[in-house]
Amino acid sequence: MLYADVILPLPLHDTFTYAVPQNMEDNIKRGCRVVVPFGTKKIYTAIVARVHDQRPDFPEIKSINELLDTTPIVTEKQLQLWKWIASYYICTIGEIYKAALPGGLKPKDENAIREKNKRRRNLFAQDDTFLNNEKCVSSLSEAQQKAFDEIEESFKSHNTTLLHGVTSSGKTEIYINLIKKYIDEGKQVLYMLPEIALTTQITERLEKVFSDCMGVYHSKFTDAQRVAVYQKQISNEPFKLILGVRSSIFLPYTNLGLIIVDEEHESSYKQQEPAPRYHARNTALVLANMYGAKTLLGTATPSFEVYHAARKGKYGYVELNQRYKNVKLPDIHVVDIKELRRKKLMKGAFSPVLIDAINEALTNKKQVILFQNRRGFSNFIECKNCGWVPRCEHCDVSLTYHKKNNQLTCHYCGNTYTLPECCPACGEKNFINKGLGTEKVEDQIKEIFPEATTLRMDLDTTRSRTSYENIINDFAEHKADILIGTQMVTKGLDFDNVSIVGILDADTMLNQPDFRSYERSFHTLSQVAGRAGRKDQQGQVFLQTRNADSDIIKQIVENDYWNMFYNQMMERKDFHYPPFYRLINVYLKHKDNQLIGHLADDMAALLRKSFGDRILGPDCPPVARIQSMYIRKIMIKIEITASTEKVRNALTAIQSQMLQQPVAHGLNIYYDVDPM
Ligand code: ADP
Ligand code: ZN
Ligand code: ZN
Repeated sequence: MLYADVILPLPLHDTFTYAVPQNMEDNIKRGCRVVVPFGTKKIYTAIVARVHDQRPDFPEIKSINELLDTTPIVTEKQLQLWKWIASYYICTIGEIYKAALPGGLKPKDENAIREKNKRRRNLFAQDDTFLNNEKCVSSLSEAQQKAFDEIEESFKSHNTTLLHGVTSSGKTEIYINLIKKYIDEGKQVLYMLPEIALTTQITERLEKVFSDCMGVYHSKFTDAQRVAVYQKQISNEPFKLILGVRSSIFLPYTNLGLIIVDEEHESSYKQQEPAPRYHARNTALVLANMYGAKTLLGTATPSFEVYHAARKGKYGYVELNQRYKNVKLPDIHVVDIKELRRKKLMKGAFSPVLIDAINEALTNKKQVILFQNRRGFSNFIECKNCGWVPRCEHCDVSLTYHKKNNQLTCHYCGNTYTLPECCPACGEKNFINKGLGTEKVEDQIKEIFPEATTLRMDLDTTRSRTSYENIINDFAEHKADILIGTQMVTKGLDFDNVSIVGILDADTMLNQPDFRSYERSFHTLSQVAGRAGRKDQQGQVFLQTRNADSDIIKQIVENDYWNMFYNQMMERKDFHYPPFYRLINVYLKHKDNQLIGHLADDMAALLRKSFGDRILGPDCPPVARIQSMYIRKIMIKIEITASTEKVRNALTAIQSQMLQQPVAHGLNIYYDVDPM
């Protein structure tokens, strides 16, 4: 009799053992999918982790219902990677399985499986329609060629190399040449981007060269399309090039030779919610290592972790500090809006100089990008009479007003509310909008420049893949003069005709109470500035701030990465922050507010027994209740040299101890390792 230990798509640490019916014995293997009963009624698609003949020690052993594959659908290397992620990021293998496979490969009930199988077959035929054979790789410039050669040279002695190239230096062209070289050598390449918006443009550039051997993978594709890419990867003829966002590290590969992590500094490479809370750049390094592949990390503004490693010689380092065609870096004008507000010279969110610059750009048929890091119309609404602010019923946050549908939305749980006719506290009908969202910026633009056409790119306007593509293509074709957006417009987009970039409010980023806020502001503001003047003329950037005299603003203006890095690193060292220390946030969630306080104190006390003064907290996080669950946070700062295994074992032991207490019923404990 054979037994199979299987991984279920549930937050469970352990595998579950089922009996293998005789008719499946010949075909069942590690990595195959099986349909298994679970509990009294449920049926799940599970992954076989081990087949063996040791009868487990419990009376009734359930049997597998169905074997879905005769060859493994999850490869040995994938299972190895899952194991690493579960152990490093302290989560369960079941959570990784859920995240790693497209939905269509893990349907819950058998009917759905048959349905999906039918659809999948159809899709394969469809897939070939985007193939074309036009080939074009660009004549690299001298500076680009030099960087290319240096990358090759550094790969002789390093597995990972940082390409530190200013915005618009032509990093993408270097990647294209590098990808071509690896593919010609018969290797596979993974090209990772931090943002779906970016894949649109890069796909177009790459398709011209690699169309017949390239697959694109991200969450805005339909499930069937993602299943098709996945299936192709385990077929005899896998894609040679995969372009994708962070989840593409979960695809099966056969002979991966190179991973490119573009815009490696982007915090969106870290998954926040739900588990696995993995960092795709760091996981990519582990993946590359498993294949003996090289990794190129590209950016104009390296993350501290990566720059630090490059300076210490752990990673190779290649610099490219001129823009393609030698176009000058944009000229950044700092606009002190504190003064202007006092003198009442601002028109809404716009300073007079910015208005003049936009006017001039519009006259010269140039385009403008405006960056405001908040979506919606206003951050919140307030009763002018009594100060009442509408808040979410389930989360500890005020609601964001969306004017288009006259709705209040919770940006944490997604619940929407209608705007009350009058204030429920005092009965007055006098609401004021506080704060600035992209929707309000668009309104103000229409008032100041009625003849200008606008596009808006934020979470509200990009619900589907086509909406991304439409916005980006329309702006590239100059169907609009002004693009207004959240951080989505800051990342790596390449438009030829943009002469002006306006940063409407740099301060909300700078004022975040977080040790990374300077580093993050430098990245974001330098990146958005880099969207200006990419093709011929030098671009102009208007950076509106109340902190015009601060060091960080000066460093951004002078593109002085080194001083920003150096100053911040001194602080990080003094206060025991990354990259000198490793952080782990422990979160506790419970629906009882009083109980969570006690439980968090208990857990912190237990942690202090093992970790001493490396423990900080417990604290209430900035939003201390989400979806009716109260949250507490405990921070652990650990020496970089400490064994991750020992730390994990200590944490999981304390977690079990906590959860064993009857009073802890309903308590949820989870970890964020290397939080961003
Ligand atoms: P980066 O990724 O460094 O910001 P890009 O790779 O997007 O820069 O290059 C900026 C612009 O210059 C793009 O429009 C690109 O097409 C163009 N470009 C860069 N290198 C070349 C080249 N060797 N030949 C032709 N065009 C190039
Ligand atoms: Zn009121
Ligand atoms: Zn909410």
